[in-house]
Formats: sequence, C-alpha cells, structure tokens
Amino acid sequence: MGEGNHISPNNDCKTITVEPGAHDANFHAPLVSSYNDRIRPILDAFEDLRRLNITKQGIQLPTIVVVGDQSSGKSSVLESLAEITLPRGQGICTRVPLIMRLQHHPLPKPELVLEYNGQSVLTDESRVSDAIRIATDVLAGEGKGISNTPLTLLVKKNGVPDLTMVDLPGITRVPVHGQPENIYDQIVNIIMEYIRPEESIILNVLSATVDFSTCESIRMSQSVDKKGIRTLAVVTKVDKAPEGLLEKVMADDVNIGLGYVCVRNRIGDESYEEARMAEETLFRTHPLLSKIDKSIVGVPVLAQKLVQIQANSISKLFPEIVKKINDKLGSHLSELEKLPKSLTSVAEAMSAFMHIIGSAKESLRKILLRGEFDEFPDDKHMHCTARLVQMLDQYSNDLHNHQESDSSKKNFLMKEIKVLEEAKWIGLPNFVPRSTFLTLLQNRVQAISRIPVEFIDKVWDYLQEVMITVLVNHSEHYHQLQVAARRAVQNVISTMKDKSMKHVMEVVEMEKITDYTCNPEYIHEYKKLMANETEFSEDVLHCKCNTRNQCWVNLEGFGEVEVSHLRQYPCLVSQAFDLRMRLTSYWKIVLRRIIDSTALHLQFNINRLVNKDLGEKIVNEMMNPYGGGIERLLEESPSIASKRDRLKKSVAVLRESKDVVARIMDRISAEED
Ligand code: GDP
Ligand code: MG
Repeated sequence: MGEGNHISPNNDCKTITVEPGAHDANFHAPLVSSYNDRIRPILDAFEDLRRLNITKQGIQLPTIVVVGDQSSGKSSVLESLAEITLPRGQGICTRVPLIMRLQHHPLPKPELVLEYNGQSVLTDESRVSDAIRIATDVLAGEGKGISNTPLTLLVKKNGVPDLTMVDLPGITRVPVHGQPENIYDQIVNIIMEYIRPEESIILNVLSATVDFSTCESIRMSQSVDKKGIRTLAVVTKVDKAPEGLLEKVMADDVNIGLGYVCVRNRIGDESYEEARMAEETLFRTHPLLSKIDKSIVGVPVLAQKLVQIQANSISKLFPEIVKKINDKLGSHLSELEKLPKSLTSVAEAMSAFMHIIGSAKESLRKILLRGEFDEFPDDKHMHCTARLVQMLDQYSNDLHNHQESDSSKKNFLMKEIKVLEEAKWIGLPNFVPRSTFLTLLQNRVQAISRIPVEFIDKVWDYLQEVMITVLVNHSEHYHQLQVAARRAVQNVISTMKDKSMKHVMEVVEMEKITDYTCNPEYIHEYKKLMANETEFSEDVLHCKCNTRNQCWVNLEGFGEVEVSHLRQYPCLVSQAFDLRMRLTSYWKIVLRRIIDSTALHLQFNINRLVNKDLGEKIVNEMMNPYGGGIERLLEESPSIASKRDRLKKSVAVLRESKDVVARIMDRISAEED
C-alpha cells in the first residue's frame, strides 16, 4: 500500500481517503506514483457489478464519464492516460460507449483485453485500435451509426492510474453522409443516460481553440449538474491556442466545480514518452502557458486528480451501494414470494380450478342472492341485490309513465270513441262489444312492449359484467382460466338473455289475448271510477267554454281534461267513459303482472345460474378437448410468467452482486485488523 493512503472506520461506513501522491518531472515515472491498493479491489468489484449489469437493477455505480464535442480530444485524453492508441481523428470515431478500465500491473508487458457481447478478446497495443474498430462495427454496424451497447477495454499496464472511465460518442449537430437523421438525438440520449445519475463524474473535454460557453457538452453537463459539483474540465490542444488560455481558465465562465486541467496530448507519430516530455517542456517554457499554475497542467496532474476524485466518490458511495443491493434483493424476493405458485401437475391444476370455481360461486351467491357485500364494501356497482331492485323500480316507472302525454288530456276519450264507431253493428246500441275493449287493451300493450325487452337486455348485460368481474378476480394469475370463464359467462348469459326475452315477450302476448284477473281490486277501482260518470256527463253538457272554445273539467283520477269535442258524440260518451274506466282499472293489474312476473323470472334464473349452470358451463369450457383441457391451467399468464422471469433474473444478479461486495467488505476489514 502506498504511503499516505489509509482506510479509517467512520461510524459504520468504510471511508477511503487518498492523498495526492507527489508527482515529479521524471518522464519515465508512472503517471500516478501512488495508485491505491485499497481502491483497486473495490474498482474490481465495481467492474464485476458493471459486468453483471447492475445499473439495469436501478443501482448506479460511480463512473467517470468523458463527454465533449466532436474532435474536442476525448479519445486523445484517454490515450494519454492509458498510453495506448485508440481510434482517433476526424469525424465520428467513437460510436459506442467505450468503458476503459485502466489497471496498473507490475509486469513490463502490457495486457489488453476487449470485452463485448459477453466475449473477451485478447489484444495488444499495436492491434487494439483495429480491434476496437472491429468490435464497434459488430455493435453499431459498419456504417456511421451509433449504438448504446458498451465495449469494455481492460488495460493492464505498468504505471497507469487505476481508473475506470467511459468514452462516449462526441456531440454532432449535423449528420454526415450515411448517418441517420436523428443522430444528434441518439448521441444526446446516450450521453444523458451516462451523465444523469448523481453518481457520475463528468469529465468535460474542451478544446482550447473554442469558446467554452459555446460548447454543447458544457450545456449538457450543466443541464444535469448546474453548479458543476461533479464536473471536471480538461482543456486540450493548449499548444494550438495558448493565447488567453490562462484568463479563460481563471474566469471559469461555465461553472466547473472540480476545476480545470490543461493538457497537451500526443500529436502525430510521437511516442508517449516524447509526448509527455513535450508537454512538460511546453508548460515549463512557453511564455504564456508557463504562467498557468503547475497544479492544473499536465496529463500526470489529470491522472492524479481523477484517481482522487474516483476514490472519494467510491468511498462515499460504496456503503450506499451495498445497502441498495441488500434492499433491492429483499424487496425482489418478497415480490417473488407473493406471485402465485405455478402449477406443475394436472392434479394440482384440478384442485386449484375447483377451488377457484367454488369460491367464485360463493362470492356470486353473496352479492346476487344474499345481499352480503363484505367483499366489495365500497363498490356500489357490485351490490347486486340492491342494484337489481333499483333497476326494477326504474322499469316500473318506465311502464307506468308511458303514454301519459298531453294529447290524451286534450283528446279525452277519443280513442275509445273511434273504436266504438268502428264497432257499430245492427243491434241494440247499449251493448258494448267486448272486442272494443280488447282492441284498446292490445293497442296499449303493444305500445309498452319494447320496455320489458329493453329491461331484460339491460339486466343481463349488468349481470354479465358482474359475473365476469367476480370470476376474473378469483382466477387472477390464471390467464387460461380467465379466458375460459369469460367465454363461459358470455355464452351462458347470451342463452339466458334469449330465454328471458322469450319469457317477457310471451308475457306481453298473453296480456293481449286475454283480459282476466281474479284480483278484486279491479272491480273496486272500476266502481270507484264509474261513480263519477253522472257528474262527468253533466259537465260535458253544461260546462262553459273559454275564449279558445275549450272546455276543461276536473275528473277524479285524471285531473283536468278537455271535453268540448265530446258534445258531437252524445250517444257514445257514456260507453266511451265506461271503456276507459275499465281499461284504467285493468291496466294497473296488467302492469303489475308484467313487472311481478319479470322479477320472479329473473330471480329464479339468477338463482339457477349461480347455483348450477354457471359452474357447469365453465367446467365444460375448461375441459373442452378442443381447447387443450385442464392442462391449459398450467400455463401461466404471460404477464406473470415474464414478471417471475424478470424477478428471478434480478435476484440472481443481486445475489451475485451481494457476494461481490461481501468479498470486498471482508477484505477491507481483514486488512484493517
Ligand atoms: P474526439 O473526437 O473528441 O475523441 O477527438 P480525438 O481524440 O479523436 O481528437 C481529434 C483531433 O484532435 C485528433 O486529430 C487529435 O490528434 C487532435 N488532438 C487532440 N488533442 C490534441 C492536443 O492536445 N494538441 C493537438 N495539437 N492536437 C490534439
Ligand atoms: Mg473519440
């Protein structure tokens, strides 16, 4: 372990602090002389977590993200830090996120491994650039398109700082030939995805040749890190634009919280040693650049700063990440626990099926027959016994209020008179032919005949809704059963509806054919109404017309009626009156009979349906050999299956992550003892 590095217990958390190691101008020295042995294992662990794709589980890892406008020098900065050659140059070279994992190792020979799509490719310094190009073509296609699938490059090399960084495609406004139209949006999306998490450190690469405030990358990092507390700026190409650089950096117009580091990258065919030497000379001797404080110039300073920032961030986040992994694992396990058990045998399926049908029937009995609403305390729609009575009341109102229009008050008794006129025959005038009554009755019944049919339609639609709701609730998680139950309910309700239609239509027809009742109320009512006849006849004869030649009289049970027209029919008025009073008293009986018989019919059929037919229908539907039989129940609903799958995968990842961090914790505490 390097001197000045220590881990100290701080409450329960492990805090890792790194003091910047002194760097000297010895060009053959490693970039960071005191890389941290304590940080390395945690970086390894993070790398393992990254490989496990833990960010997909919503756990962000501390990451140094390199952003910058196109050709600002991002890849060059990474090259300088890693001392290897990356694809570099004009136009868009970096087309996929490149996770660069730098690792010091004691051997003189570097080791380079490229990882993507689950495979590892061993490479070396001379071939790495081509290897990256090939891998990029695999991930993002051979054109100029980009992709969000990352490529990992592990660089084990003597003297490199232990750093993990992500190089991202540079921001371009204008698509070049062969690039998709929305290339800008695609790049912005990728960049935002990496820099948005609070855990990300933004390494903003700015070319000294441009005005920083016009940089797109500054605008983007400011959008997620307003005060710049997690943004570090690297100014490249200082050799190209030394004028005013000091002032630009000191002014800090663009809010860079973690400070600036000015660098000169390798140019052309220079070796890395030559480049380092040239940089050192530049900052030491250049009349303008030498004025910049040495603590903010040079690639070694950048390396040192990054190592320190990374260490701080890791020590701060590590305990949080451990906690997050444990919490997520716990919650996913309990969610898995809550999912329905998947059925594995026909016997299991059968028993689950019978249980579901039994409990669904019991629920239906409660809400449809017994009026017990404990399962749906707040859902009035499911309080079926009450809703059915409400519908019946409405039905009764509809029937009673039909035909009560103004015209019957104005043309009082005219219907009766017309029928009587047509029933005239040769015979004594004071026999009222029975056919007249039946004709009037039939007309009336015909006029209301739509109402029972509409009512039946409405009631069974409502019952279908209720039954499907209950069955679907009970067979939650059993997709196939839900499908079968829904179909069975639809079929059985449709049959019931037909049957009820036939019933009410028959009831209506019966009322047309026969006028009969044994109810004494009919006679009672008739007599009561007929008692007004003498007075009414007198009124018709003697009443005085108003200015509009209308003559209104008050008739008990009917209110004000107009009678002036009746004077033209002196012989028929009393017969018409008699007919109307018979019909009025009988109509009450008819309506009551229709309503009562509809109600009894419904109640009877709901009973039978819930207790017998529905269960049988669902069993038939489920066992139907064309549909695959009860075995279908074993198929989980696609949504549950995919949820279970997702949770299982997450749990596996989190378990492994937990192991990874547990090993690190053990190591840290072992070293501390
Ligand atoms: P990227 O698109 O941001 O990855 O930019 P590159 O790293 O590919 O660099 C773009 C161009 O700028 C390349 O030709 C580099 O050689 C050049 N470049 C990068 N850094 C410097 C520097 O410090 N000085 C000079 N003179 N050229 C540089
Ligand atoms: Mg690049």
